[in-house]
Amino acid sequence: MNRNPRYDVLFEPVKIGPVTAPNRFYQVPHCNGMGHRYPSSMAEMRGIKAEGGWGVVNTEECEISHTSELGGVIEARLWDDSDIPALARMVEKVHAHGALAGIEPAHLGMEVSNNYSREIPMGPTARPVDVLDPVQSRAMDKADIRAFRKMHVDAAVRAKKAGFDIVYVYAGHDMTTLMHFLSPSRNDRTDEYGGSLENRVRLMREVLMETKEAIGDTTAIAVRLAVDEMEGADGLSAGQEGREIVEMLAELPDLWDVNVSGWENDSQTSRFSEEGYQTDYISFVKGVTTKPVVGVGRFTSPDTMVSLVNKGVLDLIGAARPSIADPFLPKKVEEGRIEDIRECIGCNICVTGDFLSHPMRCTQNPTMGEEWRRGWHPEYIPQKSNDDSVLIVGAGPAGLEAARALGQRGHQVTLAEAGDAVGGRVLHEAALPGLAAWKRVVDYRSYQISQMPNLNLYLQSDLSAEQVAEFEPDHVVVATGSRWSATGVGRQNRRPIAIADDVHVLTPDAIMAGQMPKGPVVIFDDDHYYMAGALAEKLRAAGHDVTYVTPAADVSHWTHKTMEQARIQTRLIEMDVTIIPLHNISEVRADSIDLACIYTGSTRDIPCGTFIPVTMREASDTLYADLTALGGPWKSLTRVGDCLAPGTIAAAIYSGHKFAREFGEPAPQGVPFKRELPLLAVD
Ligand code: ADP
Ligand code: SF4
Repeated sequence: MNRNPRYDVLFEPVKIGPVTAPNRFYQVPHCNGMGHRYPSSMAEMRGIKAEGGWGVVNTEECEISHTSELGGVIEARLWDDSDIPALARMVEKVHAHGALAGIEPAHLGMEVSNNYSREIPMGPTARPVDVLDPVQSRAMDKADIRAFRKMHVDAAVRAKKAGFDIVYVYAGHDMTTLMHFLSPSRNDRTDEYGGSLENRVRLMREVLMETKEAIGDTTAIAVRLAVDEMEGADGLSAGQEGREIVEMLAELPDLWDVNVSGWENDSQTSRFSEEGYQTDYISFVKGVTTKPVVGVGRFTSPDTMVSLVNKGVLDLIGAARPSIADPFLPKKVEEGRIEDIRECIGCNICVTGDFLSHPMRCTQNPTMGEEWRRGWHPEYIPQKSNDDSVLIVGAGPAGLEAARALGQRGHQVTLAEAGDAVGGRVLHEAALPGLAAWKRVVDYRSYQISQMPNLNLYLQSDLSAEQVAEFEPDHVVVATGSRWSATGVGRQNRRPIAIADDVHVLTPDAIMAGQMPKGPVVIFDDDHYYMAGALAEKLRAAGHDVTYVTPAADVSHWTHKTMEQARIQTRLIEMDVTIIPLHNISEVRADSIDLACIYTGSTRDIPCGTFIPVTMREASDTLYADLTALGGPWKSLTRVGDCLAPGTIAAAIYSGHKFAREFGEPAPQGVPFKRELPLLAVD
């Protein structure tokens, strides 16, 4: 297929100073939990993005000095020449596909504690560091500023040695020393580096000019600037100083990469923002500079991309998450395969890898992070190694992905689903407030499956073990999912909660199926991810009195890792949901509940007409147990997804995908993936 001429503009080359991007698809810097600890994984992952058509592929933020390091959080490193080969590997992989490689050197001053190097953090001003450690930064003196400038130049020279085509000067995300100097609330200096905007910009200008001077003949210099910190008068704003900074430095860099700050504003989830949510903040930039401009906004629609270019908002379409969910997005546009694009759902599971210090995972793309260590490619999968047929029972995310990937391998696959539609839990959850984009998990897979002649889908087919046996499949995969527990058992309560017989208890499944509560609602969140918060929002919007009780200190606690927690709690407060943190449930009666303080055990009584425990899910594994008891005639019987162990949608997709990859292949011996072991020092 050929691409639609309407998208031609996206494939025009763009000159960026001394280098030229082959097209307008630009993978902006993004964290990935691989960085300096898993450099081969990082290089392979970036190389695959280039193979998928991204014209520019950047690193994540890259520490430029041991005096400013993130400890356990895994980013790239360029402390000295010994870090060059790892990054050169990435450059090599990216260049192999004709893309440009970019790097984002970062000095993280007042952000970090330096727990590894034990250096005292430094920034424009002496303050506690942002990370919640008992550590304060010291204010940089003139010698520090000179040393800081040299660090940047040295890092830029090393980056050039590694082969990078684009080197950033990074003032974004409220994380870097350069940003801290710019920020009126961070910079209290009274010397020529503080006070007026001209003074606060001085260091940025110096670093920019010195970097250009050092490597700008062959290497493009990009600026990444957060033009709006979304902090009102305390921060930079696009209407005022954010704009003035771009005006002051307009023609100095070769490229402007502009966004909003902090990271939780830059990488908002679909629950809180639509595609293109940054456009209003950054659209002024092209009117102020003649240099190419890149911006982000979870862009997955090529029509939106074209319109941004045509309207003169952006020259290059920046993407982190859309390139993670589909490393081949540009290729699919180029080949006229728009329906094949695996659109990012905006859930931020990818972001959690950074906070949890492991290679990132993606809900939509189960191969993310597995490219090098398991050799998984997001688009290609080895053809089948036998002619066996497979019956998959259950078309939730696990069953759908197993069917899609087995179908892609060429197997004859039958997918049986009890309900009227495919999608399982995703269908129900996508109907919760703000989660509509999650349905893309189903849309992508059901379209792919619909195109496969070797795949038969049967809806309204609630199979029993006997019916499975009658079907005589070679192999059976049980993907029957899970149900929320009504008992209250979970992390806080290892035994069922004392719930009287006449209590109106509704599980999240019952609410999602349309049952409505009566009287005041008490939601007990011992799950700590999105479900309890989303239910509270849904029921409050429907006019119910809602009290949200949790043993945690705040609502939806795990969503700190998806950077949504503050937004969720703010929304619930604004909707007048009563929030009672740090409490367990000690007893539930028909019209009231006893809560117990998790520290002292002291109890208090609150009214309750409907009790909604959100504590754990129970695998729906009856069919699996029945099939196991029946014992055949199949060659294998396997559980995947929530039916094996309830988890995230990402985990269910991964489980289905892994089954399909390993099906019919020799069982791996020992550790089933390649490792990146630390080098033993020679001393
Ligand atoms: P997962 O996240 O593991 O994919 P889900 O709960 O989302 O699990 O999906 C499980 C799917 O399996 C649901 O759509 C459900 O209707 C279906 N299902 C459950 N039991 C049966 C059965 N016996 N026969 C056919 N489909 C079933
Ligand atoms: Fe998008 Fe979610 Fe994948 Fe991140 S994990 S890239 S937000 S689908």
